[in-house]
Amino acid sequence: MKKRYSKPRRARLLALLLTGTCLLLPAPRAAAWGFFGHRLLNRLAVYTLPPEMLGFYKAHIDYLTVNATRPDSRRVVVPGEAPRHFLDIDRYGPDALTILPHKYADAVARYGEDSLLRHGIVPWNVALMKGQLTAAFRRQDGDAILRLSADLGHYVADACVPLHTTRNYNGQLTGQRGIHGLWESRLPELLSVDYDLFTGPAPHLSDAGEAIWAAVARSNAAVDSVLTFERELTATFPTDQKYGYEQCGNVTVRTYSREFSRAYHARLNGQVERQLRYATRLIGAFWYTCWVDAGSPDLGKLPAQPSADEQLRLAQEARQAAAAPVVSVPGHEE
Ligand SMILES: [Zn+2]
Repeated sequence: MKKRYSKPRRARLLALLLTGTCLLLPAPRAAAWGFFGHRLLNRLAVYTLPPEMLGFYKAHIDYLTVNATRPDSRRVVVPGEAPRHFLDIDRYGPDALTILPHKYADAVARYGEDSLLRHGIVPWNVALMKGQLTAAFRRQDGDAILRLSADLGHYVADACVPLHTTRNYNGQLTGQRGIHGLWESRLPELLSVDYDLFTGPAPHLSDAGEAIWAAVARSNAAVDSVLTFERELTATFPTDQKYGYEQCGNVTVRTYSREFSRAYHARLNGQVERQLRYATRLIGAFWYTCWVDAGSPDLGKLPAQPSADEQLRLAQEARQAAAAPVVSVPGHEE
């Protein structure tokens, strides 16, 4: 059964999700859905869970919301982080989706790990983390369950972004530079208030590995329309009206105009909303599947708060990320 937030409730939710970001600034390239989208997805995914999980996840919904963006924040701090967010399917030729081994060890044997890391590993990373979260449920490790749930939600969400599945990830190869932030940040931030993102209960995934590859294939199938509609619209749109200036705090930023954004959104005909809804359900499905596969442990026995050690660790990680130099890390670095 689907339901919508009331308008005032949506406004409050938006305000919460936008804390720490800016509605008008294009998100940094590596942020995938942007801070807004990742926070929204982890939050909504909680409501797809069964009653036995809902209490624990609702108690920690702010943790899961705020930490939804942590994998992007540590991109410049943690070596090897960048490739976990994407897969350039077109690097492997037109039959990539049928020839790429779904087992990481098989892919390494075939292509070599350096090559795999260069072109992204998001589905293999999600499969790896599925095992880690299942193990955390098995040993009833509350800190690890929270940390891995937040992270896994992020990577599953990344796999649902069409431009995370192509080497032309920012339109840089086709004269459409900036399209990444337009599709995944500007459009949802501007227009998602009217989306219906409730999906019903998350299903158990009988083959979680195949489910994430199906998500990547679905995203990749949307790449053509993401690029083509923007190109077609640009050809017909008044050049001086494609971009505009908007105020973000004390900063004036140049971004896609509201008129252009709305026109592009209309051409996409609900695509961003569909992908957000799909990602919400898939994140919930991964969390639920890990819990079921771990034997459905009683989450009511877990602590109500992350441990003091875990909170210290999180604070330290946040400080490191904030202090990290602004450098370009290879792998969808624009
Ligand atoms: Zn990401």
